[in-house]
Amino acid sequence: MTAEQISEIKSLLAQPQSISIIPHRNPDGDALGSTLALKLYLEQLGHSVHLIAPNPYPEFLSWLPHQEEIIFFCEQKQKATQCLQESSMVFTLDFNDFSRTGEAMQQVLAGLETTFVMIDHHQAPADYARFTYSDVNCSSTCEMVFNFLEFLGDTHLITEDMATCLYTGIMTDTGSFRFSSTSSRTHKIIARLIDAGANNTAIHNAIYDSSSSNRMQLLGVALSNMKILPAYKTAYISLSQEELDQNNFKKGDTEGFVNYGLAIKGIIFAAIFIENKEENIVKISLRSKGDFDVNQIARKHFQGGGHINAAGGKSDLSLSATLEKFEQLLPQLTHE
Ligand code: 5GP
Ligand code: MN
Repeated sequence: MTAEQISEIKSLLAQPQSISIIPHRNPDGDALGSTLALKLYLEQLGHSVHLIAPNPYPEFLSWLPHQEEIIFFCEQKQKATQCLQESSMVFTLDFNDFSRTGEAMQQVLAGLETTFVMIDHHQAPADYARFTYSDVNCSSTCEMVFNFLEFLGDTHLITEDMATCLYTGIMTDTGSFRFSSTSSRTHKIIARLIDAGANNTAIHNAIYDSSSSNRMQLLGVALSNMKILPAYKTAYISLSQEELDQNNFKKGDTEGFVNYGLAIKGIIFAAIFIENKEENIVKISLRSKGDFDVNQIARKHFQGGGHINAAGGKSDLSLSATLEKFEQLLPQLTHE
């Protein structure tokens, strides 16, 4: 952000504002952590703040401090729409385009005449915001919220709850500080968050060591379904609706499964295809190592997007037809 933009935001925030904060649909640890932390900060400044999520988050995030204050657009459409329409400022975090909030919410956002502030690390940010803080090199939106507080000279206002939220988002978006987006700056910020009260062991435990036994059984199914294609340095997993049902699937249970493909020596491209009969789609997650760009693949072939090494999308074909399409694309994708 430029010094001019920062001082403009500062003067806006010097008056009490009515503010809404929004994460993307199906919010993950980074989306929730960043929006919750920003809410707690802006409330300390004396603003009236609503956090409006398009839809619920998975259970493994349900311990995050202050999550009970979140309004879900899909459940309280009228209240959420009213909050948005009455907001003098709307912060949109961890997404780059209104479409990432889902069709219904997207329409409401597009009709607002308010001051939008975008804080996001995805490629190709849309230009709806009066203030756009976009940095594709940043590990996470939580890291950017820390930077944002630093721009405003307010990191001393980071409470234990805020530190917990920010730590969670940085940890989940960096795969526990191992992806290439993890910088020395990331670790310096993490140190500051621990000093501010984030309990690193407790957070790791709450996120990674709190699975249901059903989830572990489902992981077994996923791993036995994994198809390894050494010629294309690719491994992919598929899960049918029937397999999900048999293992009492709950939202969030498949989080992280896609990464197991990359654990195999020589594999640089991993994918997971998860059938969703309710939405009549196949949800797709793509992961890669090095400069193999899965964001482009998600954009071009699977109605999605994301980052170079982590992207997602969907397919309207059946699960088997989607897998067939993927295998047919592989020679071209891996030799482009
Ligand atoms: P995941 O595979 O964990 O759902 O998402 C990985 C990355 O891809 C995240 O940065 C997420 O925002 C992005 N992503 C996932 N699904 C979609 C999608 O359907 N559309 C777009 N544009 N991005 C997605
Ligand atoms: Mn993120």
